[in-house]
Amino acid sequence: MNKKNIKSLSLEQLEALALSLGEPRFRGRQLFQWLYAKGATSFDAMSNLPASFRNALEAHFDLQALECIQTQVSAIDGTIKCLYRLHSGKAIETVLIPGFDEDGDAARLTVCVSSQVGCAMGCTFCATGQMGFMQNLHAGEIYDQVWQMNQLANEEYGRKITNVVFMGMGEPLQNYEQVLQAIGLLTSPEGLGLASRRITLSTVGLAGRIMRLADDGVKFNLAISLHAPTSEKRSEIMPVNRSLKTDLKALKEAVQYFYQRTKNRITYEYCIFDHFNDNEEDAKALVKIVRWAPSKVNLIMFNPVKGVHFEASHEQRLNAFIRVLVANKVTVTVRRSRGQDIDAACGQLAINAGKTEKTVAQ
Ligand code: SF4
Repeated sequence: MNKKNIKSLSLEQLEALALSLGEPRFRGRQLFQWLYAKGATSFDAMSNLPASFRNALEAHFDLQALECIQTQVSAIDGTIKCLYRLHSGKAIETVLIPGFDEDGDAARLTVCVSSQVGCAMGCTFCATGQMGFMQNLHAGEIYDQVWQMNQLANEEYGRKITNVVFMGMGEPLQNYEQVLQAIGLLTSPEGLGLASRRITLSTVGLAGRIMRLADDGVKFNLAISLHAPTSEKRSEIMPVNRSLKTDLKALKEAVQYFYQRTKNRITYEYCIFDHFNDNEEDAKALVKIVRWAPSKVNLIMFNPVKGVHFEASHEQRLNAFIRVLVANKVTVTVRRSRGQDIDAACGQLAINAGKTEKTVAQ
């Protein structure tokens, strides 16, 4: 029998499950605490639950932690990338990115999580986009990535992770319910107890879903993967922009609606590509977009991806681009590529693992 993963159930569902198995409702909450606050990896370990309840759970549900099948550590900046095997056998990537202060202490420990296996969005510069869409992750699988990275952070740096970004494999808003459920677990005092402002969801810009986030009154940060400032250029590298429902015009409406409802400043992620989106006109077009609503820009230095012809912008062009933004009072930060000595671009490790598995199977 194919058992259901217990971590795909919400607190309310766990309480309903306890009742259906003849237990009082509070057993559901105890179960929830074992799963998320204590990170139990077996029903047996849940010592304050009656044996009959544990046996019934064992009979109907699986409780499997993600299995780490490969780890890469950057010798340059300490970035750790793990390849996890899901219950389905497919693999996803999660990254722990340390940010060091002047004393060399890891002041910031950011976990970059995946929300899907592969991705349907097909951005031409992205390794994950080359895989196509394979599977949505459920909330427990998203939560587990952070949980396991938190353990790793404690082992390596003696402290808890500080931030979570949904910038790994997949488009989080295409897996809306499970992603929001996972964020609920991450921010719950009975989960990891992270503050909402420590979490950033990055989307390719699905306008309708951004409006839904606004209606749902979310408190976490929203980042838009913009990567090009005009419709023409954006459509060239991001197929999402070719639809009237999700083009720049629709995005403008959604972003303004989101800001009106949440008062959360928006971040635009902008991979700066040499001689594609890094001239003065591009910078001026970007300034116009930034004025849609209070926002800031993250310029990202591109990590090379096999089969992709883009290169990161050269220092001189990058500086000229930044000068235009700063002259127009745009808040801008530059994110240097992390883990350049490992398969750093999102999706590369999973693609390579997929290739290895295929070779072995042949
Ligand atoms: S950049 Fe993000 S949305 Fe685009 S294909 Fe890659 S994972 Fe999907």
